[in-house]
Amino acid sequence: MTERICDRELHEECGVFGVYGVPGAASLAYYGLHALQHRGQEGAGIVTVDEQGALRRVKGEGLVTEVFTESKLAGLKGDMAIGHVRYTTAGGGGIENVQPFLFRHNSGDFALAHNGNIVNSALLREYLENKGSLFQSTSDSEILAHLIKKETKYRDRPRIFAIIDALNMLEGAFAFVIMTANRIYACRDKYGLRPLSIGRLGDGWVVSSETCAFDVIGAEFVRDVEPGEVVTIDDKGLRSRDYSMYKRRQMCSMEYIYFARPDSDIEGCNVHAYRKESGRLLYEQAPADADIVVGVPDSSLSAAMGYAEASGLPYEMGLIKNKYIGRTFIQPTQELREKGVRMKLSAVRTIVKDKRVVLVDDSIVRGTTSRRIVTMLKEAGASEVHVRIASPPMISPCFYGVDTSTYDELISARKNVDEVRREIGADTLAFLAPEALLKAGGRQELCMACFTAQYPTALYTEPADANKEKK
Ligand code: SF4
Repeated sequence: MTERICDRELHEECGVFGVYGVPGAASLAYYGLHALQHRGQEGAGIVTVDEQGALRRVKGEGLVTEVFTESKLAGLKGDMAIGHVRYTTAGGGGIENVQPFLFRHNSGDFALAHNGNIVNSALLREYLENKGSLFQSTSDSEILAHLIKKETKYRDRPRIFAIIDALNMLEGAFAFVIMTANRIYACRDKYGLRPLSIGRLGDGWVVSSETCAFDVIGAEFVRDVEPGEVVTIDDKGLRSRDYSMYKRRQMCSMEYIYFARPDSDIEGCNVHAYRKESGRLLYEQAPADADIVVGVPDSSLSAAMGYAEASGLPYEMGLIKNKYIGRTFIQPTQELREKGVRMKLSAVRTIVKDKRVVLVDDSIVRGTTSRRIVTMLKEAGASEVHVRIASPPMISPCFYGVDTSTYDELISARKNVDEVRREIGADTLAFLAPEALLKAGGRQELCMACFTAQYPTALYTEPADANKEKK
């Protein structure tokens, strides 16, 4: 994706992971979180439960490999763990917002980790603060914990009922894993916006935002957590409860288009296969008279393969990404950039020279990176660049935990397709139609709100407010 190679324009939300009943759970969580690293690079944490039922936590800012050392993992004993990788969404950055959150309470300690965004968080926070809650962080994820704690005033009632009552007060997108001294709860929002899957590992269980983490640790996929469902995992095995009768299947389409790893399956559909099919549909919808097809590494390569296959044009490595650019790499100054120093992506001159190139990318957010890539290909000798985008024009911000920018920053919210084409310097430009997003995955429903402005939930804010405050 273009956004991956320059200043990122589009950011993932977060990833959650859980292990139940497997010795050395912290190490497995470490590998699981590492496989989910693409979902958040700003912080990571793991909480475990030891044999005495004590919850222990290690968390920090940075990549999984930066936060955890062997000695830190060795201190996290037990066969239960939950973990989290974070990209800053609602609530901002800072160590206090790195999850899992850990709560000490006389009704029993518990930890929780969250992926998504609660759209009625401001209202709930005010309600809870008026009732005496003291928040440790500015993250909206902490709200669920306070709601659960508030509902545990009926001390003889099993905690699952407090969790169900609390989940019913939340509106928005979420996949939660909650861990007590003897069980893990996994739950998804009733709209099905965020993914969460369950796997089997030996006699134990694992829970993950994406199935790619199961393959890494040798676990077998069992099933997805359903929208509006809470799955309890303990020594009795798996138990399921619906906390909501209202259920939709409006998975975030950006999971398929961009966020998820190509080796993950989301609700029965492999992400690489989805992207490839979207590339085929893109060709059917917008063929180009060209010589070669080039994809923008990494997330657009599958769509580019699909486009090439459908068109019969050769798929070529016209762009190469430097994999070794770390977060602390010293970026070239404007002056050096003007001299042609490009660190993250290079055009392969001998491949693209004198060629009419179809450039396949997964989305256009602000347009600045697309313009840089088109310019780079032309400077490397491409005679024409036909840009094909494997998603519709992005016209509306996301309120569900994806940092898609404000209306003012979204180029397609302000300009029509031809104006965008001129802005990025392409010879032709075409986007995929919204219906093709459903067709590519054989789905009846998806959240496509950033392309259609049809939001599946109430927003508790005017969409125009997104210009004032990034969600
Ligand atoms: S608005 Fe867009 S990014 Fe946000 S959940 Fe819906 S499809 Fe995903």
